[in-house]
Amino acid sequence: LDYGPSVEDSGAVRDWLKQRGPFGHFIGGTFAKPGETFTVRDPATGDLLAEVSQGTAADVAAAVKAARKAQRGWAGLSGSERARYLYAIARHVQKRERFLSVLETLDNGKPIRESRDIDVPLVARHFYHHAGWAELRDAEFPGHQPLGVCGQIIPWNFPLLMLAWKIAPALAAGNSVVLKPAEYTPLTALAFAEICRDVGLPAGVVNIVSGDGATGAALVAADVDKIAFTGSTEVGRGIARTLAGTKVKLTLELGGKSPFVVMEDADLDAAVEGVVDSIWFNQGQVCCAGSRILVAEAVAPRFGALLTARMARMRMGQPLDKSTDVGAIVDPIQKARIIDICAQATDAGAELVGGQPGEGCFIAPGYLRNIGPANPGMVQEIFGPIATLSTFRAADEAVELANNTRYGLAASVWSESAAVATDIAARIKAGVVWINCANLFDAGAPFGGYRESGFGREGGFVGMLDYLAPPAPKPAKITTPT
Ligand code: NAD
Repeated sequence: LDYGPSVEDSGAVRDWLKQRGPFGHFIGGTFAKPGETFTVRDPATGDLLAEVSQGTAADVAAAVKAARKAQRGWAGLSGSERARYLYAIARHVQKRERFLSVLETLDNGKPIRESRDIDVPLVARHFYHHAGWAELRDAEFPGHQPLGVCGQIIPWNFPLLMLAWKIAPALAAGNSVVLKPAEYTPLTALAFAEICRDVGLPAGVVNIVSGDGATGAALVAADVDKIAFTGSTEVGRGIARTLAGTKVKLTLELGGKSPFVVMEDADLDAAVEGVVDSIWFNQGQVCCAGSRILVAEAVAPRFGALLTARMARMRMGQPLDKSTDVGAIVDPIQKARIIDICAQATDAGAELVGGQPGEGCFIAPGYLRNIGPANPGMVQEIFGPIATLSTFRAADEAVELANNTRYGLAASVWSESAAVATDIAARIKAGVVWINCANLFDAGAPFGGYRESGFGREGGFVGMLDYLAPPAPKPAKITTPT
């Protein structure tokens, strides 16, 4: 695996940060002069990376105004003209793959292998896919209109990928956007703004305003036609309350506590690798992480032993090192939150295997066992590299436990029998159910939740619908009584 970006590239990225910072907002096609700023740090080392502007309500208003001005012209382009820009963005993302991967890893703490092999390629793929939708819009959605200006608020766990999930469909449909990245990880969004400028995207079609929750709240309150939010259920609920009764369209992608069901006939070695991909990927900071492992009692001892042995082989370390499996948690506050939930879980009687905090922002992979259904570790989203492990006896019990959550984002089922796997999958209430795999994403497959995991879908045909207004109903034919 000795190829691709690594620590050697970080010098060039740090030079770019020095040269470009402090960062202003990207409004109307140019970077504004920086205002009041906040600091962005590398969670793996604590090093200062950049100073970034804290968006005020006035900044948000200016960005919305620029987006409004640009939207009509953008929507007036033909589908294939809009597609040309999306293709160009995708190509530029690929050209800057090394740079973007290293920047993402520095900013977020995720292993470079993940930014290089997953995040950045999926970003390019998302723009390629949605370039196709730009071309097909009028044929596939006859009479539909873009919504107008979309306000988009994203979290820190997949900064550039979440940006792509938001911006690509919005632009394909003919909308303009104002996007607010998360305060821990605004840097790849600012690099993306440079890509928009470099491909000659018409000014104002994409605007980036950095800042914290207050900036997000200002965007929700602004004169926008849609809010697309990805983040915590708590904040999502507040946004839904604010927008209730308004004409602003809302989609919410929220939290999860997804089941990972291992049936008695599962290939246990493969299922253990599935756990690695599911809850230890990105340090478990994944909304659809398979955080509740449910394993058939008959195979539980063997599965537990395999899991513990595999866990011991996970390499935790510097995220820019290509051999690192487990990088840094995004911020000390998040690390403290994970430790706190684990303490609540063990206080309530669960046993923590592994999961020990290291120096700085590191936490080793682990899991909680001997854990009851009402234990806080079983109920709350830990959003860290700690799964829960519990057992079931029969298929019906597996389904019942899997659905015993206020969330419904994702699930994963492991069985060597297609009949068993598809039967269980069909009975789990979740937006996506993977069989014998986990955390696989495709731009063409809609992603989204049930219940407190939110509503609306991102990706593919259904995702496009959330960025379009359906044709007005035809007036009813009036017949005069004879
Ligand atoms: P968060 O809700 O704290 O923050 C998300 C974004 O919302 C950030 O940009 C933040 O600045 C902004 N924000 C905070 N308060 C706001 C307010 N009052 N009004 C408007 N915007 C506000 O969440 P987080 O801690 O950054 O992310 C973790 C959460 O996101 C987890 O619960 C995770 O499951 C969820 N998530 C969901 C998905 C999904 O697709 N369903 C994907 C990734 C993360």
